[in-house]
Amino acid sequence: KRKELEKLKDLPAETIDSHKVLIFANIDNPDEVQSVLDSGAMGIGLYRTEFMYFNRKTMPSEKDHFEEYFKVAEAISPYPTIIRTIDLGGDKLTRMGLLSMKHEENPFLGLRAIRLCLKYPDIFVDQLRAVLKASAYGKVKLMYPMISTLEELHEANRILEKVKQDLKKEHIKFDEKIEVGSMIEVPSAAMIIEAIAKEVDFVSIGTNDLIQYTLAVDRVNENVASLYDPLHPTILRFIKRIIDESHKAGIDVGMCGEMAGDPYYTPVLLGLGLDEFSVASAQIPKIKRVIRNISFGNVQRIAEEILKCGDRDSISKIISTIQMQ
Ligand code: PEP
Ligand code: MG
Repeated sequence: KRKELEKLKDLPAETIDSHKVLIFANIDNPDEVQSVLDSGAMGIGLYRTEFMYFNRKTMPSEKDHFEEYFKVAEAISPYPTIIRTIDLGGDKLTRMGLLSMKHEENPFLGLRAIRLCLKYPDIFVDQLRAVLKASAYGKVKLMYPMISTLEELHEANRILEKVKQDLKKEHIKFDEKIEVGSMIEVPSAAMIIEAIAKEVDFVSIGTNDLIQYTLAVDRVNENVASLYDPLHPTILRFIKRIIDESHKAGIDVGMCGEMAGDPYYTPVLLGLGLDEFSVASAQIPKIKRVIRNISFGNVQRIAEEILKCGDRDSISKIISTIQMQ
């Protein structure tokens, strides 16, 4: 069986009726590059950069950032690497002694990710400079986490523009047309997707947080784990809305949350029109096998049926009727 999965490596992620999607890999650090290359991924759809901040006494420098991004981008090129700016909670940095800030009662609702970067732009600028510099050595794309308002996107882009101008003045090479995308993982962003989609080059759905915030279920609390449901009709409607409105604006939609890496959900996500699945390298063959054995027409019809349902049981029943070749 393992051999069978390995054979899939060089085959495209294409349905039996020739609908193609992209399968990308998620990574948390540069050491994972080799497994990405071995997996047959067409790029990195989520490079989480916050791990660089753990177990250290000082903030990483621009050079620290650059060295890691350069390594990854160069190895993965010509395929793209989507570098996500740090998704750290202020609480975490404070506990590590890297920031002095009052303790937060609800860090998931607090100064996290893009909010932290916009409050402390020096941290953000160091990272943006490094990402831009790395973009001269491979196909690099930039992605912001936890965007919840259009204003945050504008402010992040304003800082990015300033950093680009500075690099130009310093005669430092970078990709002037670097693509910039937004994670869609907060319900408020999902609801204004048509506005966001007009101002970015791509979006990626972060289901881990989108589910947590939409269903009011802590993603790491075992007491409420049974309520944490990717097939909640609200989540499926959000996904549908994000995909349709983004396509209207002419941009592609990826998904980099855990939902994208579970083969059980693959037919539904495909049927909803997802363009790119970004998953742990180890999951790639399993996802690809599902895609290569179903009909896009069939799963599109099934997705339409599922969207009419108001409860999980009806949805699971419909999923069980999906035919695999
Ligand atoms: C997500 O929220 O789905 C996501 C991919 O980001 P993270 O898991 O890093 O919060
Ligand atoms: Mg997230």
